[in-house]
Amino acid sequence: MRVHVVGSSGTYPAHGRPASGYVVEQGGTRVWCDAGPGTFISLPVDPDLIDAVVISHQHPDHCSDLMAAFHAWTYRPDPRQPVPLYAPQVVWDRITGFLEQEPSCFDFTPVWTGDSARIGEMNVSFVEMDHSVPTVGSLWNGTGRTLFFTGDTGPAGDWPDFVAGVDVLLSEASYQEATKNRDYPHHLSAVEAGQIARRIGAGQLVLTHIPPYLDPAVSVSEAESAYDRSVRLAVAGTSFEV
Ligand SMILES: [Zn+2]
Ligand SMILES: [Zn+2]
Repeated sequence: MRVHVVGSSGTYPAHGRPASGYVVEQGGTRVWCDAGPGTFISLPVDPDLIDAVVISHQHPDHCSDLMAAFHAWTYRPDPRQPVPLYAPQVVWDRITGFLEQEPSCFDFTPVWTGDSARIGEMNVSFVEMDHSVPTVGSLWNGTGRTLFFTGDTGPAGDWPDFVAGVDVLLSEASYQEATKNRDYPHHLSAVEAGQIARRIGAGQLVLTHIPPYLDPAVSVSEAESAYDRSVRLAVAGTSFEV
């Protein structure tokens, strides 16, 4: 599998840095995973070549570009055939409410803990994360290699057990030690991401969802101190192999 980082800015986009969004590619199948602001126009391929969409949760920094896609795929002379969309039910409810119609460019399937989907040659399994709204993490299995994307999460819950031994952990790291918001424990610090990666035996840790006001080099350094191995940063416009 190859992961194209479309955007990795935490909480809101910055110039040249879209918010959360990736394209997971395997054997000619391309899945757009999270549709944060700025990701639709930054997709690494023609949007019509996207085969399916997966959304972690309803927060706008992860799904607002579903509406950009809706306009692009609907209001043209040859609208796209419905694209499979997997997300928690409330994502569909919120988007439908905002648009005041069901977006016909999507073929929606609600997903939650225990659900899985076959997309091309990939099997994608979902698990509930520790966030303030219903959020799914996604475990991607393609030809024996595995990737887990946390979406937004805190450290609580059973999700780390679900992903023990994963090859690549693509983890949010919204906080640094100096900027931890203890009133909102539903995000991870870089140290917590490193501790979890070490505990579950992740083969590689890739940090994402670092807000524009933090220095990513500090996040990497803090995560490395806990993981005790080198840590990679998810940089918009780059890609990595799983
Ligand atoms: Zn977020
Ligand atoms: Zn969130």
